[in-house]
Amino acid sequence: MLIAVVELLALLGLFVGPVWFFGGLTLALCMALLVLLLLVLVQTWKAQRLEVWLSRPNWREELAWGGIWGEIVQRIQRQLRQHDKQLSTSDQRLQYFLQAIQASPNGVTLLDVEGRIEWCNATACNHLGLDDKRDVQQHIVHLLRDPSFSKYFAQQEHEGEIVIDGRSPSLAQMPKLSIQLHRYGEGQHLLLSRDITLVTLADAMRRDFVANVSHEIRTPLTVLSGFVETLMSIPLEADEQHAYLHLMAVQAARMQTLVADLLTLSQLEGSLPPGKHETVSLSEVMSQVASDAASLSAILSGQLGDERGPVHELVFDKSTPWCLLGVRTELFSAVSNLVSNAVRYTPAGGVVRAGWFKVPDGVVFRVTDTGPGIAAEHLPRLSERFYRVDRSRSRETGGTGLGLAIAKHVVQRHGGELRIESQLGKGSTFMLFFPASRVVDLTAN
Ligand code: ADP
Repeated sequence: MLIAVVELLALLGLFVGPVWFFGGLTLALCMALLVLLLLVLVQTWKAQRLEVWLSRPNWREELAWGGIWGEIVQRIQRQLRQHDKQLSTSDQRLQYFLQAIQASPNGVTLLDVEGRIEWCNATACNHLGLDDKRDVQQHIVHLLRDPSFSKYFAQQEHEGEIVIDGRSPSLAQMPKLSIQLHRYGEGQHLLLSRDITLVTLADAMRRDFVANVSHEIRTPLTVLSGFVETLMSIPLEADEQHAYLHLMAVQAARMQTLVADLLTLSQLEGSLPPGKHETVSLSEVMSQVASDAASLSAILSGQLGDERGPVHELVFDKSTPWCLLGVRTELFSAVSNLVSNAVRYTPAGGVVRAGWFKVPDGVVFRVTDTGPGIAAEHLPRLSERFYRVDRSRSRETGGTGLGLAIAKHVVQRHGGELRIESQLGKGSTFMLFFPASRVVDLTAN
């Protein structure tokens, strides 16, 4: 400002001084007026130029405006630069927050005071079938057409969460969503959605499992307690007593087998995957399995005395040139379950073949029988716990319904898989595939 006044006085001095000296006061005053008029015109033009510039101010522009106008423009540019910096910092922060919310495994939807969608992340779009562009400003209740959600949304306070069906192209796998509304700001709402399909499934499986175990144990327990009551209340002949005690022993053994299988399963589920420190000889496993199969075949035939022998043709290839790195008890249990199934489900006179053979990426244990075979619709569910095709044959032969579940668990823990092939009326083949990383070839040097 001071510079501008000095500039003005200097101009007046420069032009008016000499005129006053040579032409007198009146001419000097006219000259001063003229200079002032010129100055006003120049300043008005500069002010107009500033006004034009202010309509689209840019702090990056290099402007050579001298004097007070230059000063004003520079200050405006400085403030603009600061403002731009603050804006980009806040924008960056907002982007970070949005990216963090996008990365959340839970669905997040922001609703305004009326309940209209302001923003939602990709997970929420998936869960609720929303479109993050098209559905902005749409009312959530109009999009999420679920009576329990509408009721929940209408409440003043949203305590707890509700469970609704999510969106899925297939009805068979309808996902389950947990929905929770939280109030924030000045009446806006945060809608959180969580996929709880697996939790719900696990819950249902646990309930089924407990019901199945209870059912399996209740039957022998009822029989046992019935016999105990009879023995206590009715005087029986010695041979009758003996027959009752034998039946009781069978039921007790059935419960023992069931409990043993349940313990095996829970141990398999609760322990770390098997290491590779133990080298399991497959020939040894085969020898033991073959002798067990012969005994089982003889027992199932119902013959008594020394005469009894296997009633199946058992063809076992016992000399196996491979060892497996894993847990012997587990591997034996898997192989033995498959072999005993083949013997138990194949009628007397049938053939059971078992052996190991090499495949490009590992080794396979294969047991084939000439039993009744299994219809294709049962195959996918066969290794589920307590799933049985032939319930009565399973019970008669001491089955627990857990054999294949154990075999599948064991082979998977060793990095392999269980495969089943069967044709109704022709027989079945059960195979355990083990990867090459677990195989020791005894013939290699
Ligand atoms: P279980 O103790 O009842 O044998 P598993 O889990 O071992 O239970 O087998 C499940 C079901 O699969 C059996 O109940 C039976 O119906 C069927 N199954 C298993 N192995 C054979 C087989 N070799 N031939 C025919 N059916 C079989």
